Amino acid sequence: MATKTGSGARPRQAAAGNGAPAAESLEVVHPADHSLIATLPIDGPERVGEIVARVRARQPQWEALGIPGRRQWLGRLRDWLLDHQDEIADLMQAETGKVRADAASEVPYVTDLINFYGAKAKRLIGEQRVSAHSPLLKVKRLRIQYRPYPVVGVISPWNFPLLVALGDALPALQAGCAVVIKPSEVTPLTVRRVVEAWKGEIGGPDILDAATGMGETGSALVDQADFIQFTGSERTGRKVMARAAETLTPVSLELGGKDPMIVLRSANLEKAVNAATWGAFVNAGQACTSIERVYVEAEIYDEFVQRLSDEVATLRSGVDGGEYGSEVGAITFPPQLETVEEHVDEARKKGARVLTGGQREAKPGNWYPPTVIADADHSMKVMRDETFGPVVAVMKVRDAEEALRRANDTRYGLSGSVFGARREAERIARRLELGSVNVNDVLVSTLATDIPMGGWKQSGIGFRNGEEGIRKFVRPESLAITRFDRKREPLYFPYTPKRRHWLRRVSRFFAARDWRRRLGLR
Ligand code: NAD
Repeated sequence: MATKTGSGARPRQAAAGNGAPAAESLEVVHPADHSLIATLPIDGPERVGEIVARVRARQPQWEALGIPGRRQWLGRLRDWLLDHQDEIADLMQAETGKVRADAASEVPYVTDLINFYGAKAKRLIGEQRVSAHSPLLKVKRLRIQYRPYPVVGVISPWNFPLLVALGDALPALQAGCAVVIKPSEVTPLTVRRVVEAWKGEIGGPDILDAATGMGETGSALVDQADFIQFTGSERTGRKVMARAAETLTPVSLELGGKDPMIVLRSANLEKAVNAATWGAFVNAGQACTSIERVYVEAEIYDEFVQRLSDEVATLRSGVDGGEYGSEVGAITFPPQLETVEEHVDEARKKGARVLTGGQREAKPGNWYPPTVIADADHSMKVMRDETFGPVVAVMKVRDAEEALRRANDTRYGLSGSVFGARREAERIARRLELGSVNVNDVLVSTLATDIPMGGWKQSGIGFRNGEEGIRKFVRPESLAITRFDRKREPLYFPYTPKRRHWLRRVSRFFAARDWRRRLGLR
């Protein structure tokens, strides 16, 4: 679990220089070498209130554009993103310390999302005509229209600055909401650039903005917005939900994970090793859906561990600029490095074998080498709490049933995977207590925009992607429209014996499922 108490970004008091009171600002620092990249003013609660009021005022016009009108605008955003992929990747690499391949993977995901919701929105949130099941209500036209929450606040973490923030902002915009994003204070630059482009180069309506700052800025957004989409740690998620309860603001929470991978003796071992390596070390293990713990059947355990450690030892770690020359980047958020060290050191003390890595690198920046831990067990934090770094722990299990029991023995429930002969692996997968599961692959269920992704248990409330990913931003408004103009409907006053008896007979006639009762014979 991310046990953050402060921020990786450096808050500071910046002197205004003209005798005016000092304005608070924050510094964005390159995780790979700790160089200063930017100093930004913090948007305090008052400023957040102004931003929300401004986009709220424009939201009705945005809603009135309808699904096709909004789709057109979001299409322009898609084109801008496609044309500025390199600029976005450069900026993201600077604020996160990601390798190029990881930084470059976010634009394709969000542009696909724009196309997905653009094409599906009508079916998912378009007006529905409903035929009343009761013959008594056939005299009404029933309709459901889905109306957006006027302002959605998106509070996002530092690990995927664009993918996570836009992953929810885009369906909310397509649904007709105005959106204010509060990006992580550690990595605010990419989102700010996209918002700047929306307002400037794209010339989009004033219904998308960003508020920069730390927890206080996020809390102010919780107070002001009509719906909160939060992605981050379990710890902050609780605070957000408690705060939102004060104004009865609905929340959707995407929180931490401790994703298991089960390797059955029937698995293709080479594929399982390659998948575990990528699933555990992509984005330097800083993904909510990273493979963090692996359960391997005893018969193949030694071979799996040896092959995994050999494979992980080949990974190149370092900053590669635009070159696609490294697999594992820096740790973005400095306190995360402490969590990683704590988990590895504790596992070592408790008797686990650290096969590769296992020691913080002695160079500037936040660097920890890809690390494989063997012979782990559930007494260790590395098997229980979110590590969120370049570490994977492996445990030997007797059989598939033990693997399943161990995998489910957790407070988390985000996603996971099973490797083995297809039928057997699928049988096990269906019994995992997780929001999404992959069979003979990793992470794909999260990237498939067609199906929902979200956490069970303490990994969250609500889902993104698929139908759920846009439905959460709208409220059904049910309409019952009277077809015939009459002075009085049958249910109205006055209650007379004649009218009530007639009503009773009619309702009995339609409710009964046998003719005797229909005709009032019993
Ligand atoms: P975090 O909880 O520390 O911060 C997340 C965001 O919340 C930041 O923008 C932060 O400024 C803001 N915030 C902090 N205090 C707040 C408050 N009191 N009120 C409102 N907002 C507040 O998380 P993090 O360290 O940035 O991100 C890492 C965590 O995110 C990990 O646990 C990871 O698993 C999780 N995550 C989950 C998903 C998912 O889809 N389930 C995706 C990515 C990351």
